[in-house]
Parts: sequence; structure tokens; C-alpha cells
Amino acid sequence: MGLSTFGGREELPLHYRFSGSRQARINPPMPASVRELATLTIERAADGIATISFAVRDHRQNVITRQVFSDLSEALDDLGRGPRPVGVILRSTKEGTFFAGADLDRIDALGSMPAAEVEQVCDTGKAIFGRLSASWPTVAVIDGTCLGGGLELALACDFRVATNAAHTSLGFPEVKLGLLPGWGGTVRASRLIGPGPAIELIASGEAIDGPAAERLTLVDACVPPDVALESAGRIIAMRSGAVVAERRRRLAEPVVLDPAERDFLEATTAVVILGRTGGHYPAPPAILEAILAGAMLDAEAASHLESKTFARLAATPVHRSLLRVFRLGERNRRDPGVGRAVAEAPSPISRAAVVGAGIMGAGIAARHLRSGLGVTLVDIDADALARSVPGILEEAAWDRGAKRADPDAAMALAGRLQTATSLEALAGADLVIESVLERTDLKQKVLADIERAVSPTAIIGTNTSTNPIAKLAEAISEPSRFCGMHFFNPVRRMILVEVIRGPATSDATVAAVVAHAKRLGKCPVVVRDSPGFLVNRVLMPYLHESIEMVREGVEPARIDRVARRFGMPMGPIELYDMIGLDTAFYAGLVLSAAYGDRIDASPLIPAFVKAGRLGRKSGVGFYRFRGTGPKARIVGVDDDAARIVSRYALPPRDNTDRTIADRLLLPMLLEALRVLDEGIVREPSDIDLAVIHALGFPAFRGGLMAWADSLGVDEILRRLEPLADLGVRMQPTASLLERAASGRKFTE
Ligand code: NAD
Repeated sequence: MGLSTFGGREELPLHYRFSGSRQARINPPMPASVRELATLTIERAADGIATISFAVRDHRQNVITRQVFSDLSEALDDLGRGPRPVGVILRSTKEGTFFAGADLDRIDALGSMPAAEVEQVCDTGKAIFGRLSASWPTVAVIDGTCLGGGLELALACDFRVATNAAHTSLGFPEVKLGLLPGWGGTVRASRLIGPGPAIELIASGEAIDGPAAERLTLVDACVPPDVALESAGRIIAMRSGAVVAERRRRLAEPVVLDPAERDFLEATTAVVILGRTGGHYPAPPAILEAILAGAMLDAEAASHLESKTFARLAATPVHRSLLRVFRLGERNRRDPGVGRAVAEAPSPISRAAVVGAGIMGAGIAARHLRSGLGVTLVDIDADALARSVPGILEEAAWDRGAKRADPDAAMALAGRLQTATSLEALAGADLVIESVLERTDLKQKVLADIERAVSPTAIIGTNTSTNPIAKLAEAISEPSRFCGMHFFNPVRRMILVEVIRGPATSDATVAAVVAHAKRLGKCPVVVRDSPGFLVNRVLMPYLHESIEMVREGVEPARIDRVARRFGMPMGPIELYDMIGLDTAFYAGLVLSAAYGDRIDASPLIPAFVKAGRLGRKSGVGFYRFRGTGPKARIVGVDDDAARIVSRYALPPRDNTDRTIADRLLLPMLLEALRVLDEGIVREPSDIDLAVIHALGFPAFRGGLMAWADSLGVDEILRRLEPLADLGVRMQPTASLLERAASGRKFTE
């Protein structure tokens, strides 16, 4: 019988026989004894099975704290003292979570520890986990999140039963913090599922659901939640001591890996990892190395290697940056978006609507469906509306694992998407997001019509890229309920939403929109109204400077290469071609009208537009493409582009790769300082979150402000000095000079 057939179909051992399977959860066998510790309860049943049930107080989800370790150790001592259990089940009594990972405060503390102490932290945890598979058979019941240290705890048991519930997810997110699992995860996973799948699971950091974990043999069974405990009991009853001992022996030995197989795995995986990380993240290659080297060793030696690698990674600046970014995200999730607490928590939006079924409107509607919210979508163009629906349903029902839309889910979601060509359909909405074309007069007209169609309490948001909220608010008779809600393209991937306060926007409106954006799984950053808001304003100097350098004779590909080497997902010239040069032209007009002292609308962009070179969408821009649209591939540059550039040539400068990087990034920083000084954002961390989540600024650098701290103000001034002749855009701002004098950090 395969392990995966534990599902409740066979004859149950006597002590687990119930009249109905639900009873297994509601009414487990009467415990013969119960002992409670701070984070867990130990129950011994008359049949000899002991259950350790975790519930860590003061945490929304179970996390592995120092107390958990000491209680687990005490629980195992306790079980050792009494009559010998026939087996031990570990589970959680917290809804929706087994263990979400290690306590972040513990991870924070690692930064200030010497390497030997970090190794000690790993070894102490391993020693306690190791006891789980040293005596009685142990089974972990995983119903809910089982991540990081939680999965390592589960792997330290002899067997695992996961549930097929939607809330069950298993994975090793440590890599996202620049680490690897340090409590035996790399060693046990590679022995259990094989080195290749273990590298993929651990180096990607992606979580998988119960059925996928069963396919991977990461768990022994995947069953409905109401029979999970019963299955665990059956595993204990049916696995003989010899089977358990054989499993333990196998897991302690090196993995049998043919040298050719090993070399192949190393070569192919290293390429994939390099492609994904651009060589900027030390953790994925370290994971590859630790697993491959550890596979050749016995488990104890492999475990030692794992601790050493963990300590090395914990000392890297990349780990510190990633941890900070993670912390910022956590803080953002708790931030209501308004300075002083709004009198009462905003009532959740129960019916949202989107007006405009274009690229953005369709993405926003799909995001609602994917987040379990119904949505009404309105467009005056019936054809555009009809065309958008299949894409919306496909995106909303996309199954990441299967890499295709789930047809049943799509059918079910279709019932939650209402489409209409008239604004009358908005009558029942309590939030309407306008997303029609970026024309001020059209937007104003549509917003006025929306206000007439909705109830007096409905909130109205506009997904505008450049229009001042104050200008659009002129069309609204009650502007306190109006704000900007700027999503980024593609909506499915970009998690930032700028929530823009107009002059009259109320706190209640901001708080409700922020809460709604979070329900959509987004990271909302509240900003004050100003041209370009936050993101486009900080992006502008990066784009503008690249064009100036092209005019000075620098090859576009070289500029892009330098930007990528810094860690940007694409260079500024590639980005121009992606945005579309016509769109960039209009946005540039708005921004240069507002910030003309440091940005003049470059004549090069309209010249390219006039020549029909719009970027990817027309198959040619700065680069020439094979095909058009998002999937078009760069073929190279052409003579026509060079001819246009030569008409607007600037005197050449000595642009080294270092100067190119400085010219792209330092003016971004100067603009971000102006944004801070003008109070456009509430704090520097908002800038870091925004540039990471909207512009792809490298997270391993911690964001723009953290990067500035890593350089230090003196170094920044030193690098700006030779660029000062380029004008205001390269000259230190007053607040930069103030920082030089006071030593105040950029992230403060
Ligand atoms: P789009 O051209 O793809 O779609 C606009 C849709 O609005 C069309 O389907 C059109 O039929 C519809 N429309 C026009 N007039 C209407 C009316 N009176 N009532 C109802 N529907 C109407 O545009 P898009 O790219 O989705 O952009 C929409 C908004 O989002 C713009 O303000 C744009 O600046 C902003 N935005 C775009 C991007 C981007 O990358 N495309 C990114 C962020 C924000």
C-alpha cells in the first residue's frame, strides 16, 4: 500500500473508530492525562498515543519562539518519564496555521551575533528537533501555514499528514530573507524528496499546497481536515517499528547521487539561479552548494555544513536589507494609512466597481475576483467590454502550479463579475474606481457622471498616472470622498498602489481605500497630491538622464547593462520602449512643466514618436523588436535611430560605467529627498517600499533610502561633485547638506 492511500477508506484501528469522520476532530478519544505548558498542551490518550497541540499566545499565527523550543523539550522529557507512548502526534490548535516560521525577533537578533553564536542557535534548535525522530514514532498534522522553521519541525517528525484545505501551504521562505533553513531543512528535505526538488523548493522560496506536497513526497498523506488527525493515528498504528527505524536510517545517510547526475544538477541549477538572481543574491547559490555538498555527507555532517552556511548568510548586508524590507511590508500591513486613527475602523467595501475595461481596468477587476470579491465592470464600448472578460476570468482563475486557468474556478468567478455599458449599474457600489483614458476633460466628465450614479456615501477613486487629484476633484461636488488610487501595470504582478490624497480627501476615505487595497493583496502607500505623485516623480530623473547620455553618444545597450548590473529589472531605455514613447512624452510634459529647473522635455522623444518609433507596441523604438507588444524581443539598434539621435547630439562627456550608474541613480535619490522635504510621503520607508514594489528597485539594496545609507552622505557628495556642471538636477539639496552636517541617516 502506498503511503498516500491513508485517507480514511480502510478499516480503522479500534481506538479511532467513530460513527462519522467529523467526530474525529470534534471528539477525539478521551485523554487519560493532560498537561499544559505556555505554548502547548500534552495529552496522553488511553490507547497510548500522545498528542502535542501547539497554540502560541500573543501571535496571530504560531511562530517558533524560544518558549516553543523549551516547551517542546519539556514535553518530550515529560513523555519520556511516563509510560512509553506508542506514538506522538504534533498539531496546532490555532485555526489556519501549523507554524508560520521562526519568530522574526529571533531572526532580527542574528544580525548582531558573531557567527559562532549564530551556529549555536542553529545547533540548539536542531538538537531539540532531532529528539523528535529519536524515540517514538512521530507524525505532524499540517492544517494551515507550515513555513520555514515550521516545515523544519514537521520534517523532523517521522511522518507528515497535510490537509487539502486552501489555507494549507508548505514552503521555505528563508531565501526571501537572504537565508537558508537552519534547523535541518536542507538536510531532511534533500533526503526526503531528492536534492533536485529540494533545491527548487528551498531556493525559490515558493510555497506549495497539500496535494503538491504529497506529489513531491514531502508529506506522506494529503487528506481533508476532518480526517487528518485520524490519518495520523492510523499511520502510527500501521507503521511497524522496523519501518520507522529503516526510514530513520535512510535519512541519516548520504544521498546516493551518481557523479554525472550531480554535475548535471549543479550546472543546470546554477544557470537557472544566476538567471533569477542576476548574481546579486548570495542565498540561492549557497543553498545549491549546501545541498549538493551535504548530499555526499551523512546527515550530521551535512547539518553542520548547513549551520555554517546559515551563519555566513546571516552576516551579509543582503540579508539585513531583505529583512528590513520584509519588516517594512509588515508595518505597511498594520498601517491604516492615516496619521491619527480614524474614529472607527472603516467598514469594508462590500461592492466595488471599475469604470473602463482597458488594460488597467481589466487588471483591477481580475484582482477583485482573485481576492474573493465580486466586482462590476463598466465600459461605454460594448466590444471592449466583451473582449476584456475572457482575459479577466483567466487571470482570476489562474492556477500557478498547473500554469493554466482552472476552468471550474473561472465558471464560478464568472457569476461574480457583472458587466455593463451604462453607469446605472454602479447604483449599489460603495467604491468605484475610474480607469478610463488619461485625458483630463474625459476623466472629469466620467467622474461627474459616476458621482451622479452612485449613492451619497460611495467612495470614488481614480486610477490616474499624471492628472493632479485637485484638478479632477473640481468635477466632484463632494471631494472628501474622492482620492487617487494609482495601480501599476501589470496589476497582477505589481503590488504597489499609490493612494493619493487630494486637498479635500477625508481621512475616512483614505482609510477605507487603504483597507480595500490590502484586501486586494496590495501594498498601499499614501501620498499627497503633486505632479507625478511619488513613483513617477522619482522615476523621471532615471529616464531623463538616460536620454541625455544617449545624446552624448553612450550606447543605449550599455546604459541598460549598467542599470541591470546595479540590480534594476530593466534598464531605462528598455523601460522607455516598454512604456511606449508616446505615453512617456505626455507624462514628460506634465513633469517638465512642474519641475522644469531639473527636467526639460527632451526633443529626442517627440522626434522618435514623429518617426513612428513608439517602442514595443510599434515594433521599433530605441531598439528594434521582433514582433510587437509585451512578448516582442529586442533584435538590436538600427541606423535610423542613430540618425535621429545625431540631430540632437550633446557634447560627449567622459561617461565611465560608474558615472553612468551615478547619473541614473543619484538624481533619483535627490528627487526622493525633495519628495520627503515637501511632505509628499509620511516617512522614508514609504519611498523604499514604493521604489521596490513599483519600479523593481533592487530589494537586496533595501530601497533607495537604504542604498543611500549604505553609500553614506560623504560618498554621495563626492560622487555628485564632478556632475555639478549638469545643473540643478545633480546638485545637492539643502536637506542632503543638512544630513552631511548632522549625520542623520536617510532611513531615519
Ligand atoms: P486603455 O486605453 O487600455 O482603456 C481605457 C478604457 O476606457 C477603454 O476600454 C475605453 O473604452 C474606456 N472608456 C473610455 N471612455 C469611457 C467612458 N466615458 N466610460 C466608460 N469607459 C470609457 O487605458 P489603460 O491603459 O487601461 O489606462 C486607464 C487609466 O489607467 C489611465 O488613466 C492611465 O493613465 C492609467 N494607468 C495606466 C497604466 C498603463 O501602464 N497602461 C499604468 C497605470 C495607470
